[in-house]
Amino acid sequence: MVAMSPEIGGAASVEPPVVEDRGSFSHAVCRVCGWSGPGRRSRRVSREDSRAHQETCPGRQPSAQEG
Ligand SMILES: [Zn+2]
Repeated sequence: MVAMSPEIGGAASVEPPVVEDRGSFSHAVCRVCGWSGPGRRSRRVSREDSRAHQETCPGRQPSAQEG
């Protein structure tokens, strides 16, 4: 007897873009690899920087590193 139950949380979860405020500028930061974007005067622009980074984030790829 097998009960088919939907798997929850099985899909890859992507961290939401994080924006830090430094002075009058905001920087997009990545909590995965520690990347930080250039200073922007608009948070919206920083979010776009973070989004663009997530596509090329080296820490996002599921590469198992042993050591
Ligand atoms: Zn990253």
